[in-house]
Amino acid sequence: MPSFLEARNLILANVPLLGQERVLIADAAGRILAEDISASWDMPRWTNSAMDGYAVRSQDCQQPSSLNVIDFIPAGGGSDKTVEPGTAIKIMTGAPLPSGADAVVPVEETDQGENVVHIRKPVKTGAHVRFKGEDVTQGECIVSRGTYLRPPEIGMLASYGKAYVSVYRKPRVAILSTGDELVELGEPLSDDRIINSNSLALVAALKEIGAEPVVLGIAQDNRASHIEKISEGLKADALITSAGVSTGDRDFVRVVLDELGVKTLFCKVDIKPGRPTTFAMKGGKPVFSLPGNPVSTMITFEELVKPALLKMMGHTRVIKQEFDAVLETDLTKKRLGVLNFQRVNIAIREGRYYASCSGDQNTGILKTMVRADALALLPENKDIFKAGEIVKVHLLSPFIAMVEE
Ligand code: AMP
Ligand code: MG
Repeated sequence: MPSFLEARNLILANVPLLGQERVLIADAAGRILAEDISASWDMPRWTNSAMDGYAVRSQDCQQPSSLNVIDFIPAGGGSDKTVEPGTAIKIMTGAPLPSGADAVVPVEETDQGENVVHIRKPVKTGAHVRFKGEDVTQGECIVSRGTYLRPPEIGMLASYGKAYVSVYRKPRVAILSTGDELVELGEPLSDDRIINSNSLALVAALKEIGAEPVVLGIAQDNRASHIEKISEGLKADALITSAGVSTGDRDFVRVVLDELGVKTLFCKVDIKPGRPTTFAMKGGKPVFSLPGNPVSTMITFEELVKPALLKMMGHTRVIKQEFDAVLETDLTKKRLGVLNFQRVNIAIREGRYYASCSGDQNTGILKTMVRADALALLPENKDIFKAGEIVKVHLLSPFIAMVEE
C-alpha cells in the first residue's frame, strides 16, 4: 500500500497536461499561461519623469539656484526645446524627459515659479527620472509558460497590448456518486435515503480551482448502472467517483473499472481518512475513486485529486503549502501507524499559527469539517501529539481570520 506521498507522486507522474486554447486577456485571470511571452519593446518606452516637477540639468543645481522656465510638458505631450544651462522645463509625471535634462526636481522642492523657478536643494543626476527600458528590456520574457495569471501578470500583458493569450484548457471533470441510498437534492426524501451531497461538494471544489464539473448523477448499486455511468464519465478529461470503492457486497466501482479496462494503479493509501482511495487510468485519463463518507471524499479530493487536476491545468505549483502550527490541544490518533489528517482550527497570534482540534474526528462527522480551517498532518510514526508540540498543517481555505489583539 503506498504512503500518502507515494500515492500523490504516482498520481502526479501519470496525469497528462491538457491542450491549450486562446482566450481574451480579460478572461485569462486564474488560468495558466501556455506560452512564454517576451517584451516587444522597452518599458518604459521612453525616458520620462517620475514626478510632477521641473526637468533640469543637475549640474545647474548643485546649490540652491534659480532657473528660467522655458516650456511645459504634460503627460502625453512633448517638447522640441532643449534644457540649456540656466533653464528648466516644467514637466508632469510620465511625460518624456526633454533633451538636455538629466534630472527632475519635484514641485514640492521648489517655489513652483512660472517663469523663474527657485530650486531649494542640490539635485542628483538621474533624480526622479524613469529610464527607457529600466523596467523591462525589449526581448526579455515578461511572463513565462506555466505561470498562474494573477492581476499583476494580466496588467503586464495588457501593457504590451496582448489582447489574447494561450492558456491551458480547463479540465472537464465528471462526477459520479454511487449508492442505492442516495437521492438527488430536490427529490422526495424518504426515511431510508440520504441526499447526494458529495456531488455538490465536488462541484464546488472543482469550481474553486477553475475546473469544469460534469455531473453524472447517481449510479445504483449494480453492475449495469456502474458500467453505463462510468463509461459516460470516461468521455470527460477525468472522472471522480464517490463511495462503493471498498470490497463490500454492494461495492461495484473497482470491479467495473477493471471490466472497462481501466488500469488500477493503487486501490488503497496508507492514510486516514481515505484509505480505500483508488487511482486508475484509461487512455491517458485519470479516474479517482474516493470513499463515500463526505469527510473522506472532501479530504481525499483536497490532498490527492486537487494537485492532479492543477497539474492537468498547467499549474507548476501543485503541492499544498505546509505551515508549522503549535498545538493548543492534544491530538490523538484512533488508528495507529497511519498518516492521519485531523480537522483543526487555526488561530494566529504574534505571527505564529496555533492549531486546536475542531471536534469529533470520526469520518462520519461532517460538522467538524465545516468548522475546520485546516488539516493537521499527523505522521505515521507517532500517535499522541501533545499541546505545545509543532505539527504540519494544510490550510483548507485561502483566507484566514483577522488577527484579534
Ligand atoms: P460507501 O463507501 O458506499 O460505503 O459509503 C460510505 C458512506 O458515505 C455511507 O454512509 C454513505 O451513505 C455515504 N455516502 C455515500 N455517497 C454519498 C454521497 N454522494 N453523498 C453523501 N453521502 C454519501
Ligand atoms: Mg455504498
